[in-house]
Amino acid sequence: MSNIQDKVVIITGASSGIGEATAKELSSKGAKLVLAARREERLQKLQHDIQSHGGQAIYKVTDVTSVEQMEELASYTLKKFGKIDVLINNAGLMPNSFLYKRRVDDWNQMVDVNIKGVLYGIAAVLPSMRERKSGHIINLSSVAGHVVGAGSAVYAGTKFAVRAISEGLRKEEADNNIRSTIISPGMVKSELPESITDMEFKPVVEKMYERAIEAESIARAIAFAIEQPSNVAINEMLIRPTSQER
Ligand code: NDP
Repeated sequence: MSNIQDKVVIITGASSGIGEATAKELSSKGAKLVLAARREERLQKLQHDIQSHGGQAIYKVTDVTSVEQMEELASYTLKKFGKIDVLINNAGLMPNSFLYKRRVDDWNQMVDVNIKGVLYGIAAVLPSMRERKSGHIINLSSVAGHVVGAGSAVYAGTKFAVRAISEGLRKEEADNNIRSTIISPGMVKSELPESITDMEFKPVVEKMYERAIEAESIARAIAFAIEQPSNVAINEMLIRPTSQER
């Protein structure tokens, strides 16, 4: 039996891209899913797709920038499924641009979703995981959490932060049998480039993304991390298109 069978997994940003692909992959391996994002019709459709393939999924409309909504997401999961085995902090956005363009609203949004959203997720699930002395928190960083490119200073800053927070979490919760995994993708086909508001910069990124790999590639890596025995923690994976140099 798969070590994913019957695990209760919360996925933020489940309404598209990597989150959606991961939900389908984990469902095919028997996970019980809690899908979270802001676009309800997308979540409904995904829930329906999963259920029509014999999987189990519920959803809750959640904005990860609200600590209250993240707490409610965890409570809802505990009420419906009795436990939280895995949280995948996947919601994120990448409105890249140069610093001199002073796109302060974009900076704030990236900090709020990419960093605070991850922290609120950790805050929401840690109490019950610590109580059970069991759990797994998977945070989506990026190759941009390792390498800073011109135009991605703020996004990279948020993804470096995700790696720092994940490493702190790993050290703090090792004795509580809580695993921590950083997933650092390279270019992946998804709606991510659509979050770019700088119309001069967007075509540059879209051109680069012509070599992007399928979101399923990341979903398989996430499944690999989850399906290890509980005494084995896959702490970080970098997954790039083969042709991506940086
Ligand atoms: P998508 O744009 O396809 O998905 C992003 C998801 O985040 C959507 O489901 C969106 O749902 C959700 N989201 C955004 N803001 C919020 C919010 N405030 N509250 C709740 N959910 C929110 O992009 P990806 O699938 O590519 O991105 C997933 C993660 O992977 C991100 O963290 C991204 O930084 C990371 N990543 C992606 C790479 C790529 O090349 N695609 C490369 C490296 C890392 P909704 O709008 O419905 O709320």
